Amino acid sequence: MHAMRRPFVGGNWKMNTTRAEGVALVRAIVSAQRMPGCEVVVFPPFPSLHAIAEALEGTSIGVGAQDVSAQRAGAFTGQVSAEMLLDSGTKWAIIGHSERRHGLGESDELCGKKLNRALEAGLRMVLCVGETWEERSAGRAHDVTHRQLAAAFVQVGFERLASVVVAYEPVWAIGTGKTASAQDAQEAHRSIRKWLGSRYDSRSAEGVRILYGGSVNASNAATLFSEPDVDGGLIGGASLKAAEFVSIIAATQPARPSPKS
Ligand code: PEP
Repeated sequence: MHAMRRPFVGGNWKMNTTRAEGVALVRAIVSAQRMPGCEVVVFPPFPSLHAIAEALEGTSIGVGAQDVSAQRAGAFTGQVSAEMLLDSGTKWAIIGHSERRHGLGESDELCGKKLNRALEAGLRMVLCVGETWEERSAGRAHDVTHRQLAAAFVQVGFERLASVVVAYEPVWAIGTGKTASAQDAQEAHRSIRKWLGSRYDSRSAEGVRILYGGSVNASNAATLFSEPDVDGGLIGGASLKAAEFVSIIAATQPARPSPKS
């Protein structure tokens, strides 16, 4: 965590929650969340976005979608455009999640198209990158994340960089209960920031929030967030439990020594 960057915690609900469950979850988060210094965004399934955006109106918690189309409009069955998301009160979207890259075969190139299109439309974006266990074991982790970054940012100009948050999510750590060590996460985040520095410039790169994602929970969050280039987290399973999610948000603020009596 670095003082110049505002911490960010996202809750990726994946394919979980009905509208009523989602509204109850955000109400519980709002009533327990006491960290105005941390930017918090929840990512419910598409059919709940409007209801969750309404439930969060007037609060500091934002709403995002778990994906967005690379297309503007037309004959694209099942897809949802950036404009439709904005119309439903959604301000953010995730792209490049491993459950889409690896689960559904989405290419680096498609992620680049989605990123550029959604930024042009005015959404703010969380771009996920990360290597598989095989790629890490073969010593290719940095090459893979750099390749994913290069394809995603191919058309993104300087002026839009501030609307992007990068999430480093090693595929082997997502939903598995295995977490990268804080040192491994820091090394990966540093390498992502260096890549951004060479693609844009180091000053712009220093301003980009880089989140860690992969089995973050209330017990390991503070250790991960204490690394200088880890600016928060993208949380899957643990974001479905209000108390645990709020503890993870609280872990973005380093504990202060208690005042002497
Ligand atoms: C995710 O889906 O982005 C994620 C990190 O999941 P989990 O926290 O469950 O590993």
